[in-house]
Amino acid sequence: MTTFQGKGVYGAIAIGIVSVFKRQDAVVRREHVDDPAAELKRLEDAKAAALAQLAEIYEKALREVGEANAQIFEIHQMMLEDDDYNESISQIIETQAVNAEYAVSVTAQTFAEMFASMDDAYMQARAADVKDISNRLIACLSGADAASDAADGKMIVCADDLAPSETVSLDKERVLAFVTAFGSSNSHTAILARNMNIPAVIRVGEAFLDAIRDGDRLIVDGYTGEVILDPDDVTLAAKTEKQSQDLAKKAMLRELKGKENVTLDGTKVSIFANIGGVDGLGPALANDAGGIGLFRSEFLYLESDTYPTEEQQFAAYRKVLEGMAGKKVIIRTLDIGADKQIDYFKLDKEENPALGFRAIRICLTRPEIFRTQLRALYRASAFGNLGIMFPMITSVSEVQQILAICDSVKEELRSEDIPVGEKVEIGIMIETPAAAVISDRLAPLVDFFSVGTNDLTQYTLACDRQNALLEPFCDTHHEAVLRLIELSAQNAHKHGAWIGICGELAADTTLTEAFLRMGIDELSVSAPFVLPLRGAVRALDLSANA
Ligand code: PEP
Ligand code: MG
Repeated sequence: MTTFQGKGVYGAIAIGIVSVFKRQDAVVRREHVDDPAAELKRLEDAKAAALAQLAEIYEKALREVGEANAQIFEIHQMMLEDDDYNESISQIIETQAVNAEYAVSVTAQTFAEMFASMDDAYMQARAADVKDISNRLIACLSGADAASDAADGKMIVCADDLAPSETVSLDKERVLAFVTAFGSSNSHTAILARNMNIPAVIRVGEAFLDAIRDGDRLIVDGYTGEVILDPDDVTLAAKTEKQSQDLAKKAMLRELKGKENVTLDGTKVSIFANIGGVDGLGPALANDAGGIGLFRSEFLYLESDTYPTEEQQFAAYRKVLEGMAGKKVIIRTLDIGADKQIDYFKLDKEENPALGFRAIRICLTRPEIFRTQLRALYRASAFGNLGIMFPMITSVSEVQQILAICDSVKEELRSEDIPVGEKVEIGIMIETPAAAVISDRLAPLVDFFSVGTNDLTQYTLACDRQNALLEPFCDTHHEAVLRLIELSAQNAHKHGAWIGICGELAADTTLTEAFLRMGIDELSVSAPFVLPLRGAVRALDLSANA
C-alpha cells in the first residue's frame, strides 16, 4: 500500500481501478511549405472544424454542468478567434514558409508562457486553456481526435493534468474519479470536477504517475486529498465505510437540490453561500446556493505579497459575478486587522487588535487602497448582480463617508466611459453592538444589513473570538446577541431594507426558527451547509405557536 497526498477538489470518495489517461499529443515537426497561402487555407478549415467541436462540447457541458461552467468553452471559442493568437500563427506560416501545425505549436508555447508568467492566479491558469485549444487545432489539422477517452468500464482516470475540454469530454457515466499529478485548484478542470460531482484529487506529484499502471486498485479520498494505491484490507474497510456514509448523506441532500427554501407555512428565506475567493464558486454552485452572501475579499490581499491591483481584483470579482450568472453576489470590502494581519500594510503593533485599527477604519484612513477596491468592484458590477458591503461599522458618519466615496468612484468611472452596473446594492455589516443599537439610523442609508455574528458575539459578550479559554463564557445563543439581531431586523424592515446573517450562527439549525420569526430574509453559510439548512427550513412550521 502506498499513500500519495494531493489536494482534494471535490469532497467524495471513490474506490476502483486505475485507467491511465492516454493523450494523443501530436508530435509536431517543422516542415517547409512551398505554398503558404494554401497552408493558411488549411488552417482556416481546421479552425472551423475546431470551432464546431467546441460548440458541441459547450452543448454537452451545458447539459451536464450548467451554463456558468459551460462558459469556459465559449471562452475557448473566443480564444481561438483571438486576433493576436491568429496573427501570430499566420505570420509564422507566411514569414517562415512552414506548416500550420508547427506555427500553432510555437504560438501555443509563447502564449502559454506569457499567461504562466503573469502574477494573477486566474490568468496563470489560462495557460492550460491556450494549450488545450492549440492541441485541438493541431488535431484538426492532422485529422486526429484531440484525446482518447477513458478505458471501458467505470474507472479512476489518472493523468498528468487534464484540460477542461478533456475533462468534460470524458463520459461521466464511466468516470469514478480523477487524479492528476499536477494542476491548479483554480483551473476550470478542478471547477468542472466539482460541478460534475466527481471525486477529484490534484497535485499528487510525478511519483504517482510512475507508480501506477492500468488495472491497479486505488482509493481516492477527495476530502483528505489522499490517494491510496493498492490499499490493505483494514484501510479498504475503513474507506468503504466512510464512502457509504458519505453517499447516504449526499443522497438525502440531493433530494433538496432545486427545491425552494420555504417553511411548511409558506415563509421564504434566501440561502446564500460564503466564499473566500474564486475557488468558492464551484462549491457554491454545486450546493445550489441562491447567491453569494459574503465574499471575504481580504483573502485576495492575504494571498498576495503586495497590494492586489485594480486589474487583479476586477478579474476575480468579475469571474464570481459571471459564474453566478445573475444571482446576487455580495462582496465585502477589505476586512483586515485583528486576526488577519498582512505585512505589506505595515500596520503598527496594537495592544488590543480586535478593538483596533481594522476593516473600514483602515479603508477610511487610507483612501487610495479603498478607492482601488471600489473601482474594481464597480467595474465588475457591469457583469452581474453585485451588492457591496462594508465591515465593522459603528456610526452614521462612517456610512455617510463611504457613500460619498462610492459616488465619487462611480463618477470617476463614468467620466472614463467605463460601464457600471445599473443597480448595485449597498449594505453594511451589523457586527458591533453600536451598529445594532443605532440600526434605526443606519437602515435609511443602505439597501441591506448583514449580521456578522462572529464579531457581534465577541464584542457583545466581551469575549475574544481567538481565545479558546473563553469558550465556556461565550454562549453563542446569548440573549443579548439575539436581541441585537432582532432589533436590527425590525429597524431594517421599518426603513425598507432587507437583512441577512452571514456569521457562523446562520448555519446553526437550532436557531433557524428564531431567525425566521425575527424576519431574517437571507442566511449565508459555508457551501456544504446550504442544503442541510434548506432541509431545516423546509421542516419548520411557523404557524405553530412559538
Ligand atoms: C462575522 O464577524 O460574523 C463575519 C461574518 O465576518 P468575519 O468572520 O470575516 O469577521
Ligand atoms: Mg466580522
